[in-house]
Amino acid sequence: MATLAWNGYRHLELYYGVSGSGRVLHTINPRLHPEQVAWIVSHAEDQVLAFDTSFLPMVQSIAGKCPGVRLWIALCEKDQLPVDSGIPGLLSYEDWIDGHLAEYPWPDLDENVASSLCYTSGTTGNPKGVLYSHRSTLLHAYAAAWPDVMNLSARDSVLPVVPMFHVNAWGIPYSAALVGCKLVFPGPALDGKSVYELLEAEQVSFAAGVPTVWQMLLGYVEANGFKLNHLRRTIIGGSACPPSMMDAFRERHGVEVLHAWGMTEMSPVGTVGTLKNKQIALPKEEQTAVRLKQGRAVPGVDMKIVDDAGHELPWDGRSCGDLLVKGGWVVKGYFRENVDSPLVDGWFPTGDVAVIDADGFMQITDRSKDVIKSGGEWISSIDVENIAVAHPDVAMAACIGVRHPKWDERPIVVVVKKPGADMTKQALLQFYEGRLAKWQIPDDVVFVETIPLGATGKMLKSKLREQLQDYKLPLPS
Ligand code: AMP
Repeated sequence: MATLAWNGYRHLELYYGVSGSGRVLHTINPRLHPEQVAWIVSHAEDQVLAFDTSFLPMVQSIAGKCPGVRLWIALCEKDQLPVDSGIPGLLSYEDWIDGHLAEYPWPDLDENVASSLCYTSGTTGNPKGVLYSHRSTLLHAYAAAWPDVMNLSARDSVLPVVPMFHVNAWGIPYSAALVGCKLVFPGPALDGKSVYELLEAEQVSFAAGVPTVWQMLLGYVEANGFKLNHLRRTIIGGSACPPSMMDAFRERHGVEVLHAWGMTEMSPVGTVGTLKNKQIALPKEEQTAVRLKQGRAVPGVDMKIVDDAGHELPWDGRSCGDLLVKGGWVVKGYFRENVDSPLVDGWFPTGDVAVIDADGFMQITDRSKDVIKSGGEWISSIDVENIAVAHPDVAMAACIGVRHPKWDERPIVVVVKKPGADMTKQALLQFYEGRLAKWQIPDDVVFVETIPLGATGKMLKSKLREQLQDYKLPLPS
């Protein structure tokens, strides 16, 4: 059974009702292109599709292309059912469940059967399905709740801003039920004002989100001189947390920031940057440098980095290589893909490039396809982007490599300015001085109106490269 839905209580009921009755809950990302959604629905062989009414236009455009779906359900009251929707047999959720008894004898299921399904964002080619089992979901729920991971307890009021339509909102719907905490849902209102008001009204103590959402929240809070009065901890992941964001949360609002990394293929949590005892007393700057790393593997996940020949690299904080993982909630193969397993000797290649320090803190330097190699040396596009967004005039920044006759590749930074900002290329390039080694400073700044984003809010560098295919590096003066 598929869902196209925001974070809300009916979606949560489906999380438990569908999987608990032995069916598979397939959460679909509504930000995907309708063609892709129709493809995913057919590939997953979905028979029932429940959707929030705000996605009605999407459902109307795909309904005719999904012959396998025998039941369409609008997640609303009976009297809110859209009229003349053109969707055959459309039923309201409340009407649908009203027809059943409140008591239900839950079946005894084999822990290894599938409970839910989520497709990767598919920036190249078709998305791939990752099937989670009851076992992997439960193990992940325990691990995510641990003190060194999200540190969840019944005392918390928890707001998952991360969507339940992608990688199970980082497992929070399951971990929250495990510890019995209060759950708060934002629905479709993810703008700074709405999220701020919800955080305050529901006295949220722990919230989870991607940097783009927190950017909107902090922008609103700062513009209005407000304070986050109840929030104690936030977990940030999905893409790298910029240092300026961590500072704003910690210094101005006393909110502890946990930087985390994971992926669809890992249910999704893989690492979290919780400090170790010996790091608590470190001077502020040294401690921040540790916190900004993507963190240590959560219990139940093993990781390693390897060179191009597959040889394991040391955990010395300098050696940079492809990151591989394995564990109880790491994918072994994609749903209905009859190709060889993606695993290499039992390890899943994440497609990320990372360093790991002697304390086990992993730091992502790039996606392997985004790596910039200049004169044989790697330049981290994440470092270049983090510095750009720390500039007060920069709203968003993406660093990409462009061909160079002498150095093979050189970095440039593509920037969206904040509204009203009047910044020059020169000013941003000067801002890099002293913050990066000279050879790591981008060769050029390209100002654009927007940077293309994928369905999970991550920058689509492949598209950006396409848009800039005619770009030429400035000649040295
Ligand atoms: P997804 O499967 O859509 O959740 O995307 C997973 C990918 O997002 C990872 O392989 C990383 O490339 C990226 N990612 C996730 N968390 C972080 C993070 N904290 N810092 C940098 N990249 C991240």
